[in-house]
Amino acid sequence: MEKSFYIEVYGCQMNVYDSRRIAELLLANGFVQSPDPHDAEILIFYTCNVREKAAQRLFSNIGFLRSNKTEVIAVGGCVSQAEGTNIFRNKHINISFGAQTYHRLPEHINSILSGKKAQILDLAFDEGTKFRHLAPSTAKASHSEFVTIQEGCDNFCAYCVVPYTRGREYSRPAKDVIAEAREFIARGAKEITLIGQNVNSYHGEAPYITVGQPKETWRLERLIREIALLDGLKRLRYTTSHPKDFTAELMRVHAETPVLTPFAHIPVQSGNDRILKLMNRGHTARAYLDKLAMFRDICPSIQFSSDFIVGFPTETDTEFEDTVNLAEAARYTISYSFKYSRRKNTPADKMDGQIPERIKEERLALLQETLLKSQVEHNRALVGTTQEVLFDRVGRKENQYIGKNVYLQSVIVESSENLIGEFRNVLVEQSGENSVSGRVL
Ligand code: SF4
Repeated sequence: MEKSFYIEVYGCQMNVYDSRRIAELLLANGFVQSPDPHDAEILIFYTCNVREKAAQRLFSNIGFLRSNKTEVIAVGGCVSQAEGTNIFRNKHINISFGAQTYHRLPEHINSILSGKKAQILDLAFDEGTKFRHLAPSTAKASHSEFVTIQEGCDNFCAYCVVPYTRGREYSRPAKDVIAEAREFIARGAKEITLIGQNVNSYHGEAPYITVGQPKETWRLERLIREIALLDGLKRLRYTTSHPKDFTAELMRVHAETPVLTPFAHIPVQSGNDRILKLMNRGHTARAYLDKLAMFRDICPSIQFSSDFIVGFPTETDTEFEDTVNLAEAARYTISYSFKYSRRKNTPADKMDGQIPERIKEERLALLQETLLKSQVEHNRALVGTTQEVLFDRVGRKENQYIGKNVYLQSVIVESSENLIGEFRNVLVEQSGENSVSGRVL
């Protein structure tokens, strides 16, 4: 009898992408998907290690979702990679697999089900191999799909686990990325987001060879120009990127490519040079702001979002003020800010001068006040403008629909027509802190 599986996924878009590929692989290998964990023989947890105490949270979720029916529990992704053999201190876990080895999951599940093995640990950093084993999907695509173009990171920011959990940078060959995007569009996708830990350091093999010449690689700039030509693609995004890898050419691509949104997520983390150096970010606050100014010169419609970490070890009040000043100067459309939290085995975890929680909380509240001001201003400026919106969910009220404009801002409308998956032009009439509302034209 066919065994059924249930996937619980945590974390970023990369994990969402991976979990879909895992589901496709299992379906192609004769398993069936169950929407109910208590009805599935196989439970798969695809994990994220960005938040604190990820392993403890995982273990309690396993306890919550397990049932008498459960025969196999497989844990994958960043927590597996970070915990190594320690993951098996939870006796219910049979398989622990990495972000680079999920193509072998069907085989591992069969080994457990047949009783050949009781526990399997598969955390190899097999760069790129999994992509060659992904199962083709025939299901209808969502109106908005992710395509992984790059994985891993060589930057080793002092607070980040990614280089240890996802491994060194690997870029998928351009022809595979283009083929996957084309596939999604053929199956109904209208918006594609190119994803990776550091997409603007992409350097994938070009889809051709020039006789007598060494193999060429394409940067993100070239890849975007090519994908933008695909018939049926209405909107293209990419995330996430590093300030030091933003080139003038990438800025020009934004200015010259209508389907590419005039929106760039450029994480800065801190506005103080000493802290940026301790973080190993590879740029100064001035260099960062200069890059935003250059971007605005080349592509006047561009808007930015960013990530911030407050309370990095040894950060003083004055150094934190530099971050608030940078946030004011940058005029972000949206931002994501967090208190620094320690990650095992990272350089920052071993630093002296860890900041007390109370101070981190105060700093976060202050920074968020500043960031919110610029978000509110941006939303206010949208009133009276026409925004192209891709609707992706229903609102709380009857006939209410919510979608995103090019700046990833939520736009709310009322409509008697089902707008999910549709693009519409919306005249913005009102603005709030986290959304704007208007009417479909
Ligand atoms: S660039 Fe991003 S993914 Fe890479 S180490 Fe730094 S924070 Fe982590």
